[in-house]
Amino acid sequence: MAITEIRIYTVELAAKQLYNMSNSAVATPTSTIIEVIDSSGHVGYGEVCLASPQYQPAHNDGIRTSLEILAPAVLGCDPECETVLNATMNQAMDGHTEGKAALDIACWDLSGKIANRSVVDLLGGALQQDVATYHVVGIGTPDYAAAETERLQNEGITRIQLKAGGRPIHQDIACIHAVSKVIQPGSDLAIDTNRGWTTAEAIHVSNACANINLSLEQPCATENELIQLKKQVNHPVIVDENSTDITAVARMISYGLADGFGLKLTRLGGLTNMRAVRDLCMATRTPMSTDDAWGGDIIAAACVALGATLDPHFSRGAWIAHPYHQTHYDEENGPRLKNGFVTLPQGGPGLGLVFEPGQFGEPVAVYH
Ligand SMILES: [Mg+2]
Repeated sequence: MAITEIRIYTVELAAKQLYNMSNSAVATPTSTIIEVIDSSGHVGYGEVCLASPQYQPAHNDGIRTSLEILAPAVLGCDPECETVLNATMNQAMDGHTEGKAALDIACWDLSGKIANRSVVDLLGGALQQDVATYHVVGIGTPDYAAAETERLQNEGITRIQLKAGGRPIHQDIACIHAVSKVIQPGSDLAIDTNRGWTTAEAIHVSNACANINLSLEQPCATENELIQLKKQVNHPVIVDENSTDITAVARMISYGLADGFGLKLTRLGGLTNMRAVRDLCMATRTPMSTDDAWGGDIIAAACVALGATLDPHFSRGAWIAHPYHQTHYDEENGPRLKNGFVTLPQGGPGLGLVFEPGQFGEPVAVYH
């Protein structure tokens, strides 16, 4: 098989509700959808959508610009040979993992359709059918944070991620204490500042919340700050934004820095790279999540597919953006949240999604 045509589409995914992080808020990100067609006529889909320009070094418009180089480079590649596909993309362009990820995911979907197998099976098979997810409580007042936490727990969600940072830390501490009063036994609380605190602030918060069972997710901006912080706090440290590639993940595991990871599929370059990171994390008994920064059914299905292959004991869950924007590409089969879990799409082989011809409108670019 050989890739004969690649079409690029865009979809606006406006946030439905408040989604404030320490350094940005989500407005209306533009998702990039990739349709890859091979010489047998099979079609695979990939997607990438970044939440805000401030969240990471990449940008949604820049992703589509990178595809002007990456898409022509992979024409003629065998979509089932993911090692060669990724080597070809890396030879064509340094960095720009997000555009590479969207193409990589599309080829995994395509490979599943060729083999009549699910992407989950191609990744090694499911160790869990329903993948736990976590839900974000955005930055707000203590009353808001506590009420949101109670509402989410009443819906069956047991993994709460409370956003913090970007304001005086006494306000963050007040929110954490308010949430701790309503958090139920068995629920998991992560405080995610998206790089928002200094080490001194993180230590202060950790000490002020010493008796609260929580983890600190990406409390500071740099790996060196996290190394300094790790020696001075008792709370587990979860690394998200600094886990940029498999080398960084391996290094932080070897340092004993990371008690777990919040991993983004498109930051790491797609399912091929994430499969390697998964194997590293599982071999070292390091909990990890399989998330992406935003996006619709396609990227959500890819995150959940990989999430299903994790040992549940070391799974921090798969975050999907649907509860925050409510835009669905496949109403019937798309991955949906129920009682704190996401069910794997069952629409057919590949990622398990079904789309109507022309559903995404006119392509913004076509390569053949
Ligand atoms: Mg995070």
